[in-house]
Amino acid sequence: MPELPEVETVVSILNKNARNKKIVSIDVVYPKLIKTEISLEDFKKRVSNKIINEVNRIGKYIIFDIGVDVLISHLRMEGKWYYINNLELINQKHIELIFYLDNDYMLVYHDTRKFGTINLEEKQFYKFKEPIKKLGPEPFVKEVNGLYFSNAMSKSNKYIKTVLLDQTKISGIGNIYADEILFDSKIHPENKANNLSIDNYICIYNSSKKILKRAIELGGSTISTYKAGHGISGKFQNELKVHLRKGENCFNCSNKIFKIKVNGRGTYYCEYCQIKY
Ligand SMILES: [Zn+2]
Repeated sequence: MPELPEVETVVSILNKNARNKKIVSIDVVYPKLIKTEISLEDFKKRVSNKIINEVNRIGKYIIFDIGVDVLISHLRMEGKWYYINNLELINQKHIELIFYLDNDYMLVYHDTRKFGTINLEEKQFYKFKEPIKKLGPEPFVKEVNGLYFSNAMSKSNKYIKTVLLDQTKISGIGNIYADEILFDSKIHPENKANNLSIDNYICIYNSSKKILKRAIELGGSTISTYKAGHGISGKFQNELKVHLRKGENCFNCSNKIFKIKVNGRGTYYCEYCQIKY
């Protein structure tokens, strides 16, 4: 599943390739992809002949600025955007939408699991509407610090791993990075969030910033088949300290890494390095 650093990579590739290109026509192969309540005809009308001014990211949402409106894309499990000039380069069975651009290239949305979504909203209002309005801030923004983490999370009696994944509190932390952040901050994933101290939250905040920044620098973690574009793959998977390392030796203490389920999510941790309070 693409996480924030992977989405950041996708956004920079889309900006490089599709920015300032005009969408001349649209083929919606899988209409259920579009979550805004709008007819297909209206969708096409509002998107056709618009220039992609810029592509941005809010949390794990990709925002295409097309003038009056924005297209909001979430890749969920397996969604991918391809910038190609020949459909035969990809598996056509899972194509859900094609934007034909004015340079004979296509921007193709492809999704083997069909969980991805696209919304079309007015640029003026989209930040105050679903799905963007409920997102918490990212760890990098100015007003966020250890105290902010503590205020946002420490009232919950859920496990800290679960609370870190709650995008309404802090956005951008997915399953891989939650494991890495808790390993880095030496905190057991099954601590109750309301059992952790302000010092614990300062550690979690510092680790969140450090790990996400490093992952973005390296283009994310390419796990399974995720591919941001042709020839692009993330390198952060080479730096994962616990995630997917079940039974391997901890880099700190040489004991074996454990795998458990926390609220249904596969969770990797070191029993010795990560403290349960
Ligand atoms: Zn260890």
